[in-house]
Parts: sequence; structure tokens; C-alpha cells
Amino acid sequence: MRTKIIAGNWKMNLTLTESTKLIHQLNFSSDNENIRVLVIPPFTNLEAIKRLLKNKNSKIEVAAQNLHHSVSGAYTGEISARMLKDIGVDTAIVGHSERRTLFAENDETISLKASSALSQNLEIIYCFGESLIQRKRGIHFEIIARQLDDLIHKFETQYWRYGKIILAYEPVWAIGTGQTASKEQAQEMHQFIRHLIGKEIGEDLATKTPILYGGSVKPENATELFQQPDVDGGLIGGASLNADSFNLIIQSIAENC
Ligand code: PEP
Repeated sequence: MRTKIIAGNWKMNLTLTESTKLIHQLNFSSDNENIRVLVIPPFTNLEAIKRLLKNKNSKIEVAAQNLHHSVSGAYTGEISARMLKDIGVDTAIVGHSERRTLFAENDETISLKASSALSQNLEIIYCFGESLIQRKRGIHFEIIARQLDDLIHKFETQYWRYGKIILAYEPVWAIGTGQTASKEQAQEMHQFIRHLIGKEIGEDLATKTPILYGGSVKPENATELFQQPDVDGGLIGGASLNADSFNLIIQSIAENC
């Protein structure tokens, strides 16, 4: 059985005081080894939230929202994979659509970041997704295949084999818009991605790799999305900032395991 994952991307939200309050309100105590829950705070809160979760004996993990592809150097305002590892962070998002659209990251930069993270032994949540125009033009499968191209063809299979790659399909038109992909649209794309991985790098790795859905997941639509055979959980933005909604989403994945 594939690991099921719920990851809450807080983006540039929540002060340390607000984050601390939220962490105290989250309920996740499942003994099921197949379920993981992560919170993804801003850089300034990472270490404190990690320590708080450890002190609470919580099974919730922390991840970073971004990283720079260099190990160190004159990159004012940036954080490297090595720095994240050093404070005990083992997972990072790479390629979020807001990084692509607001910070001009392209497939090349994202590929460099993924490579740097993996080579520093970080696990990555690799985000990708088509725009509304691309979907309307019917080229969404082609776009997704292109966004996954480097990861599938240029990265060492060992990263897939060691379970260091989590995929997150996030149609850009569904992020923060309240417009979710239907369960059929999500399943169709996730099945396409799994088939692509199977064809290009091996059925065993395709079967094992978690593929998350992201884009306006809420308690109201979480269950039907997580019931899809190829949807292994969610990357949650807005709904992860509220304890009630995030707890319900965590509950939905637990019920579908
Ligand atoms: C995200 O930022 O990855 C995301 C899916 O946001 P939201 O859930 O708010 O659409």
C-alpha cells in the first residue's frame, strides 16, 4: 500500500505565535505507518515548529516551502538544502506554481533545485500543473509530461527507488481559487502520471510513488478526492491555516486508508 500524505502549505502566513497556536490545535495521532502529515511553515518558523512538535511527541513532520539550488554563496535572501538539513528539515517543496508565476522559476531552475535537494538527501514534494488556458486548449497532458521530463529522464532512478520523490499535481486554475478539479479530472491526471512513470522508469516505482492533489482542497471535497485510486493525499493551502478544516482533511485521509 502506498503512503498517504497530507501536507499543509502555510505560504507567507502565520507568525510564530499564530503557528504555535495552530500546532496545539491539530489532532494527528494515528498509529497507521502509512499516513504522514506535514506542515510547511515559512522559513522563520521552521526550527521552532520542529522543536515544538518534537516536545509534543507529535508525529506531524515539517517541510520547507522552497530552497536555492546552490549549496552556499552570494545569494542574498536565499536558503540552501544544506541549511535545511542542518536544522533537521528533511523535506522541501520544489516548483510550486506561485514560485513559477510570481518568482519566474522555470522548469530549468526547478530542476536545479530538485537536483540540489535530492543530492543533499532531502525528500522533495515536486509540484507541477497546467494553467486554465492550457487545459482549455486540451494540451494539459502534454504540459504535465513536459514538466516531469527532467525528473523522469535526467534524475537518477535511485531517488525514486529510495522514496525521495513525492509528486504534487496542482492545476494552476485550482490553486487558491476555490475551484477544485473534479474527482474525475484528478483521477484522470493522476492515472496518466502513474502510467508515464511506469512506462519510463518502471512499474514498481510507479506503484510506490505518492501523487498528491493540490488546489482548493477543503473538508467538503477531500473525501471524494482521496477515494480516487491514484490520489494519495493532498497538498493543502488555505484550508491548512485553520485547525478545524485541516483536522477534518487529516481525518478524511485516515478514513480512506
Ligand atoms: C497550494 O498552495 O499548494 C494550494 C493547493 O493552495 P489552496 O489549497 O489554497 O488552493
